[in-house]
Amino acid sequence: MRGPLRTIQMTAVAMLLAGPQTVAAQRDFSDVRVTPHHVAGTVYYLEGAGGHVVVSAGDDGVVMIDDQFAPLTDRLIAAIRTITSEEIRFLVNTHVHGDHTGGNENIGRLGIPIMARDRVRVRLMASSPVLALPIVTFTDDISLHMNGEDIDVITLPPGHTDGDSYIYFRGSDVIAAGDVFRTVAFPVIDTNNGGTLDGTIDALGMLIGLAGPDTRIVPGHGVVSSREDVMEFRDMVLAVKARVADMVARGMTYEQVAAARPTAAYEAKWGDPERFLTAVYAELGGGS
Ligand SMILES: [Zn+2]
Repeated sequence: MRGPLRTIQMTAVAMLLAGPQTVAAQRDFSDVRVTPHHVAGTVYYLEGAGGHVVVSAGDDGVVMIDDQFAPLTDRLIAAIRTITSEEIRFLVNTHVHGDHTGGNENIGRLGIPIMARDRVRVRLMASSPVLALPIVTFTDDISLHMNGEDIDVITLPPGHTDGDSYIYFRGSDVIAAGDVFRTVAFPVIDTNNGGTLDGTIDALGMLIGLAGPDTRIVPGHGVVSSREDVMEFRDMVLAVKARVADMVARGMTYEQVAAARPTAAYEAKWGDPERFLTAVYAELGGGS
């Protein structure tokens, strides 16, 4: 591995080692407002800071997907109370990141069972108190049967991280995609938490296969989207992969690849490609 790429990766490692608590502690959440939005059927999402919280609300109670940052728990619950007075029955984590699991300790203290893939629990154990840990873990798909519909928790190949899940609210026809699909940036492939490029591509293909033409897809960050939006995102990833693979095959360094701007056509829509490009280059064997 050549110098500059190593430097980029070391910086990423240092940022991740700082941990979610540190990131949350440095941020000021006092001005954050949590806004609920109805998506379809029983499903709402809560917009605050960090990853969107997705909620199913009905006669059987509330299923909550992700919980942003610890200072926002009270505001998230207050937003849920504007939708329903029913009990919060379960929390499901889509993946380990601190902007999706930062409220876990507060939720655990309320006695609400937290559910996630075993990899999420293993990774949280390194940095989190016991109350923040999922107490129900799974290695394969599971389903909840509440509020008149099947709520399928679908396990994914290692993509954004190695503990990603989609949550498909079948009756409402809404999928919570976590951070595998985001509308605001290039894919984040968190290799330090087991993420991979090919897993991201496979998981996006699964999302396209699961969704119908009218399915509403709530990304981890960004706007509610359609299957066509996911196709556009997946096709972008495939195109960048093909271009970078060709450059790696020609022996180009990371600096040469970045200078050739294989993401140029997409930067107006998805922004700064550096972190994505670094992960793609490394996974395709560049610099080794
Ligand atoms: Zn994430």
